[in-house]
Amino acid sequence: MTVTEFKAGTRKTKRKDISLIIQKSNYPTEEIKLSAQNIKKIESPGNKKERKTIKAALKKETNKIFLEGNYLKRPSRGRISGVFGASRRTPDRVLWQHRGVDIAGGRQAVVKSAAPGIVILAREDFNLHGKTVIINHGGGIMTLYIHLDSVKVKKGDKVSEGNIIGYIGDTGVAVGPHLHWGVYLHGTPVNPEDWLRGE
Ligand SMILES: [Zn+2]
Repeated sequence: MTVTEFKAGTRKTKRKDISLIIQKSNYPTEEIKLSAQNIKKIESPGNKKERKTIKAALKKETNKIFLEGNYLKRPSRGRISGVFGASRRTPDRVLWQHRGVDIAGGRQAVVKSAAPGIVILAREDFNLHGKTVIINHGGGIMTLYIHLDSVKVKKGDKVSEGNIIGYIGDTGVAVGPHLHWGVYLHGTPVNPEDWLRGE
């Protein structure tokens, strides 16, 4: 495939051909129990618009690079309660493939920016995702934080790695308080664990 190489801190780019090896992965199935209230939220017609808003934000790339290295920092401490790629289902239906990792850090645990960047979405009114933050780190890399109890940044804010952007909650469709952390590369969800340096 052809990729665009960015030179950090400049606007210089270079087109380059790279080869990729695509491997098959085996992802687990995770069964969750949803409350009647959560099922009602999943079935809300407004979800389509919400998904579209998030998708559009994840596609808004800029030439500017904010990342200072090739790695991200885990945004919250806690047990991993859901893995990337898992097929999520209830006893009677398949819901979706899990596009991030879940960190069960406990209600009100701090959520920090995984790297320097610009907040491109900060919303408190989402039905499905709950209180949501998306940070653009440049170079096509973005991070998503959902189900927050409260949001401490606003759209356009510049953040450094480790800045508090919110607190863990269970807003939206969540089974207990946790941070759902997503990493996106050019709009495609990738495994956040692959972006951490030996943490
Ligand atoms: Zn999740």
